[in-house]
Amino acid sequence: MTVIPAINPATGETFAESPATAPEAVAVAVGTARQAQGPWAHRPLDERRRVIARFQDLLFTRRDEAARLVSRENGKPVVEAMLTDVAVSLDITRYYLRHARRILRPRRLTHSNIAVLGKRGRLHWDPMGVIAIIAPWNYPLLLPLGEAVPALLAGNAVVFKPSEFTVRTGLFIQDLLRQAGLEPDLFQVMVGGGEVGQALVAAGPDKIFFTGSARTGRQVAKAAAEQIIPVNLELGGSDPCIVLADANLERAASGAIWSRFTNGGQTCVAAKRLIVERKVYQRFLEILLRKLSGLTVGPGNQPGVDMGPMIRDSQVRELERQLAATVARGARIRVGGRRRPDLGPTFFEPTVVTDLPLDAPLWREEVFGPVLPVVAADDEDEAIRLANDSAYGLSASIWTGDRARGEAMARRIESGSVLINDATCHVGIVEVPHGGEKESGLGRTHGEIGMLETCKPRYVGTDLLDWFRKPWWFGYHEESAGDREAIMQFLYSPSLWARIRAIPRALRLLVNRRPV
Ligand code: NDP
Repeated sequence: MTVIPAINPATGETFAESPATAPEAVAVAVGTARQAQGPWAHRPLDERRRVIARFQDLLFTRRDEAARLVSRENGKPVVEAMLTDVAVSLDITRYYLRHARRILRPRRLTHSNIAVLGKRGRLHWDPMGVIAIIAPWNYPLLLPLGEAVPALLAGNAVVFKPSEFTVRTGLFIQDLLRQAGLEPDLFQVMVGGGEVGQALVAAGPDKIFFTGSARTGRQVAKAAAEQIIPVNLELGGSDPCIVLADANLERAASGAIWSRFTNGGQTCVAAKRLIVERKVYQRFLEILLRKLSGLTVGPGNQPGVDMGPMIRDSQVRELERQLAATVARGARIRVGGRRRPDLGPTFFEPTVVTDLPLDAPLWREEVFGPVLPVVAADDEDEAIRLANDSAYGLSASIWTGDRARGEAMARRIESGSVLINDATCHVGIVEVPHGGEKESGLGRTHGEIGMLETCKPRYVGTDLLDWFRKPWWFGYHEESAGDREAIMQFLYSPSLWARIRAIPRALRLLVNRRPV
């Protein structure tokens, strides 16, 4: 039997093993999920809410265990796992428990065209069916729960493939949901690598929520397109962080450092390209380097540690490739730039790079590790041009003393969100729809929009004038041509007088007495 090891990146030790799911078993799981989903969707919303409320209580009770597990599997400090993964997951759950009824309520549609005035229309939000969630390892609790909780509340079943690096956290979620009383078939974890993800897509779920790299996202989207399965893609990012001369530079430096180096620099929404107005470039760089020297790197389970290791050696090697290729093009490493083998196998120093050409890998590619490139911009316009010169468009931040100026600039940035005088934290604000444009993906998670993405809108229209024949039904005979012209005049003529004159004939056709 194949097993997937759970490895602590801080030490390289295997601390648990999980039996892998055979790819053939994935289609069976989707089938059982589909069978369980119908009855689940037909249960009253309050029953579904009760299960998720119990899950919320269990997650709160076992929050220390959850944070320690995330830290052990992913490497981030325990306190960070508590603040980002656990706290935000609790917030997400609370938000959807409170708002599910309002969000899922059928909406009345008003019909503006007089020809259909006699209709009552409602928009219903029905569950998609079986939702496949494929998630990465960097926020192993928060990312799947941000999609699974609204999906389950809306009446879907979920089949979840965590990254093979964070399987134990995936199984922890499954365990908690079952303890909360969720029928096992409604949330199933598929254990394995990319081949299990492929099998999940091939099994034909009703919707796929994929979070991961743009490269894998493309493969998933292609495979889904073959089956016409809708896909939500939360992909990579290379967020610009613009620091204007009028900003509070001390605060901007602290914010940018946290955004870039949290989670060992392995966050999708992070200040990955720092753009500083030239007037304050040198001064800001000094502040940045000074503050960075105060960062403590070490194992995530030790108190006082700010930044843990990277997840795997392959990720460190990719970072080293990007850094070396950029330095070979003339860039300067201002601080860091090396591994820390004294701390463990995958520790890397927080690194700042300047003087880089803008076609170098550190600027053009997504950088998933603790390296921050910094460039200068002459003015606001150049800063925006540099910010938008990226294949990605996930998020952005602008630091300025003039909020109105920041908000005006935000409208010119190509990204799913822009924060003024802060960065990254909106992913933890549950009301905010999260997602990007360009190669950062399609669709949104979180908030009202995120829940509706787990549903399909269904229009139900009832004819209230059901004793009349409809004017557009067959019987296109000559004598009614004038009546139809009258309707066109009545509805669309720019002349008020022509519209008034057309009323009697238009009404004759609309409420005609011909046999139904
Ligand atoms: P990957 O794209 O490598 O993997 C993501 C998930 O897809 C994993 O569970 C992976 O399994 C699985 N997978 C791999 N190959 C396939 C396949 N052919 N078909 C289906 N599933 C497959 O991303 P990473 O795990 O390396 O995560 C880092 C990336 O995620 C970064 O680009 C980051 O920006 C992005 N990300 C985006 C977020 C957003 O909200 N926009 C949030 C967080 C991260 P396995 O790991 O087991 O191989």
